[in-house]
Amino acid sequence: MKITGAALFPVRIPRLTPLALAYATRTACRAVYVRLDTDAGVAGWGEAVPVREVTGERYGDVVHALSRIAPALVGADPLDTEVHRPLLDRDLATLPSARCALDTALQDLKGRALGLPAARLLGGARPTIPACVTLGLGTLEETVATARARVTEGFTTIKLKVAAEPAVESARIQAVRAAVGPAVELLLDANQAYDVPRALALADAAARSGVALFEQPVPADDLGALGEVARRSPVPVCADEAVTTPLSLLRLFGMPGLRMMNVKLQKCGGPSAAAWMIRTAEAAGVSVMVGCMIETRLGITAGLAVALGLANVARVDLDGAMDLTADPVFRGGAVMRDGRQSLPDRPGLGCDVDEAVLAAHRDDDPVGDPA
Ligand SMILES: [Mg+2]
Repeated sequence: MKITGAALFPVRIPRLTPLALAYATRTACRAVYVRLDTDAGVAGWGEAVPVREVTGERYGDVVHALSRIAPALVGADPLDTEVHRPLLDRDLATLPSARCALDTALQDLKGRALGLPAARLLGGARPTIPACVTLGLGTLEETVATARARVTEGFTTIKLKVAAEPAVESARIQAVRAAVGPAVELLLDANQAYDVPRALALADAAARSGVALFEQPVPADDLGALGEVARRSPVPVCADEAVTTPLSLLRLFGMPGLRMMNVKLQKCGGPSAAAWMIRTAEAAGVSVMVGCMIETRLGITAGLAVALGLANVARVDLDGAMDLTADPVFRGGAVMRDGRQSLPDRPGLGCDVDEAVLAAHRDDDPVGDPA
């Protein structure tokens, strides 16, 4: 099988409701779809979702780089991953979401060429995994109402975004716990909002509400602070923004108390980079949550394939497509049912993409930053 061409589709798909995070409020998914064509008549698909605060990229730079690098894959055999990997590693070293789009499309083609689902190619660790749903920043009343609704829909794990003072957030956590009962798992994600004393104050309160995990409590570049919270927090600590690429993972090795890291395909460079990180983390005794950005069901499917494929994945947070107003994947892809996520038994990522949906949501101004 040889790659014969490449096409790019910059898209902007609005959310039904805004999602408030510590660093921004998101109203849409801005993505770049990539299609790699082959002489075997099958195409592989990938998705880039650059988010400056997380992946360090500007949207326009990702579009520009993909328009240059994707055609350079013409003539390559998708199975020869170690032949074309240096091109991605060198030319897209600072553009992880662009690397992710191409790496995803190549993994998709590999599975289609071999007639095997991507999750089985990676190792086939499990057929399904409990889903997690994220609730953004908001008032106590809004949060409780949304949490109740999500539990009614079947979710058994809820991630609460937190950023306000510890006393305010602990009241919100207590109220959610009272509303959903003891059986629902509660996770916190501060997206770097606190210093060490406030992170520990919130962790103490969260422990009393049975919170199972505290994600990125302190700034990503302050590994000393992360280490101190990880060591002293009664709730297990998870690194997210502090761990981006495979190289960044090595800085966290040996941090006492760090129990988990959140690996996202868009920030690490795609499924092959994520697989390397998940296995390396396993060697260090750290388990992995596979997370996502606000991305479409194509990117979610790629993340879920990694999560279902590799044994050292303990959790997923792959709800980024739930609130989008359109779905370019018209057949196949990640399924969410009764609080669990699974993939159909189809080769590659198994996503059939409707290019009419991409055209209807074309991003006509593919420069600049925001989503
Ligand atoms: Mg996070």
